[in-house]
Amino acid sequence: MVSVSLYTLGCKVNQLESEAIADAFRSRGFRVLPWDATGALVADILVFNTCTVTSKAEQKARRVIRKALRDHPQAFLIVTGCYAQVAGETVDALGREADSVNRLVVVSGDRKSRLLDLPGFLVDTMPEQLAQVLLSQWLQDQGTLHPSIERFRFTPGDFSLHSRASVKIQDGCDNHCSYCRVRLARGMSVSLEPERICAAVQALEAKGYAEVVVTGVNITQYRGTAAQQGPLRLGGLLKYLLAETGHIRLRLSSLEPEGLTDELMAVLGHPRIRPHFHLSVQSGSPLILKQMGRGYTPQDIERGIDRLRELKDDPFLGCDIITGFPGETEAAFEKTYQLCLHSDFAWIHAFPYSPRPGTAAYTYPGLVREQDAVLRVDRLAALGRTGRQEYSRRWLGREVEAILEASSNPHVAVGVSDNYLKLLISFPDQEPPPAGSAIRCRICGFPEQGEAFSRFDALGEYIKDEPR
Ligand code: SF4
Repeated sequence: MVSVSLYTLGCKVNQLESEAIADAFRSRGFRVLPWDATGALVADILVFNTCTVTSKAEQKARRVIRKALRDHPQAFLIVTGCYAQVAGETVDALGREADSVNRLVVVSGDRKSRLLDLPGFLVDTMPEQLAQVLLSQWLQDQGTLHPSIERFRFTPGDFSLHSRASVKIQDGCDNHCSYCRVRLARGMSVSLEPERICAAVQALEAKGYAEVVVTGVNITQYRGTAAQQGPLRLGGLLKYLLAETGHIRLRLSSLEPEGLTDELMAVLGHPRIRPHFHLSVQSGSPLILKQMGRGYTPQDIERGIDRLRELKDDPFLGCDIITGFPGETEAAFEKTYQLCLHSDFAWIHAFPYSPRPGTAAYTYPGLVREQDAVLRVDRLAALGRTGRQEYSRRWLGREVEAILEASSNPHVAVGVSDNYLKLLISFPDQEPPPAGSAIRCRICGFPEQGEAFSRFDALGEYIKDEPR
C-alpha cells in the first residue's frame, strides 16, 4: 500500500489543510505515516505544506526538502503552501539542484486543494511510477478554482494529526500590514457561507468532538450571508453557530484588536465560547503600529483587554509581538514591554521582525540589528513565562473543564483546559476516558522543576466527565 507523510509549517489554517489532505489520502486507501524526522520511517510520497511568514520558515522548508531529496531517493516530493505560492521557482530549483527534477512537483498555494483530488487520480490511474511530468500535466489539466471554492474544500472528516478539531471560516486578508507576506500568498479575504460552517460544526458535534477551533487567516474579517439571518460578521456567525448546536465549545484562533467590536463582544461572554483569546498586538508603540499599517492604537488594545476580562472569569490572554521592526528604538520597544507588563498576558509569542520581499516595510529605513531584536524577544519571552506561571497559580484549587489527549498511562492523562492550560491530570480511581473527551478537574498543584515543568502549566485531579 502506497504511503504518504505530511510536513506542515505555519499557522492553524495550514495545519487544518494538511489534516484534510491526509484525510483524502487515507479515505482512498493510502497509509498516512506520521512525519518521522529521524528518517527511519519514510513514506513513498512526502507532502510539504509550507509557510512564508518569516525567512526562517522558508529556510526551514528548504532545509527539510533538501534533506528529503538527499536522504530518500525513492520518495516523491510534493511542495505546496504559501512559500510555494510566492516563490515556486525557488522551490522548483531545489529539485534541479539535487538532480532530482523528476521527483519534486510544486503545487502553488492557490491550487493546494488539488491535492484532495490527487489520491483519486493515483488510485484510478495506478501509475507505474510517480513522475513530475505526469503530475504537472495532471495539475495543468485540473486548472485553477475560484478562491471562494478553492479555499474551502479542506473539511477533514477526522483529525488524526492534531488532538483538537478545527473549522476554517475565512481565508486571505484585506489589510495591508507593511511587513506581511501572508496576503500576498493567500490573497484577499474570502468567507465560507454560514450554513456550510454550521453543517461542519454540527457534523463534528455529532461525531463526539467536544470542542472546535474556529480559524482563518483573519477571522475578524469574516463576512457571510445566511439565508435567514442575512449578513453576518464574526459575532453574528458565532451567535448563529451557538444557536444551531447543543454543547460543542468554540475556541477562537487569533483576533485582530481592531476586530474587537461591540457586536463580537456581545457574544464572547457565552459559556460555550472558550475563555481564551489570542490578540495579534505586534507592538505597543503608536509610531511603530502606524509604520506597520495596523488599524489600532495601544489604548484600543488596553480597552479591548479590559472588556475581554469583564466578559470572562480571568480568561487566558495571549498575544503576538514583532520586535525590531524598522525604526523601533529602545524607547519604542519599552512602550511595547510596558504594555505587555500592564496587560498581564498569560502568553507572549514574540518573534524578531523578518524582512519580507514584496512588502512595503522591506525597504523601510531604520533597520534594527538582529541581536537587538532577539534580545527584545528574550525579554518578552521571560515576561511571558512569568505571566503564564502567575496565571496558572491563580487557578490553584479551582475547577476547569479539559479536553483529553491520547494517554498511555492507566491513571494519568494530558489535557488542555478551557482556559488553555496544559494539564497533567490524575485519575486516582479509574482509567482516563478516551482522547477527545471533555472532563472536569481541579487544579491541585504544579509540576516540580524538571522535565514535566516546561511541558505542563499545572497538575489536575479528575472530578467527573462533562455531559455530551
Ligand atoms: S492582518 Fe495584517 S498581518 Fe494579518 S494577515 Fe492581514 S495583512 Fe497579514
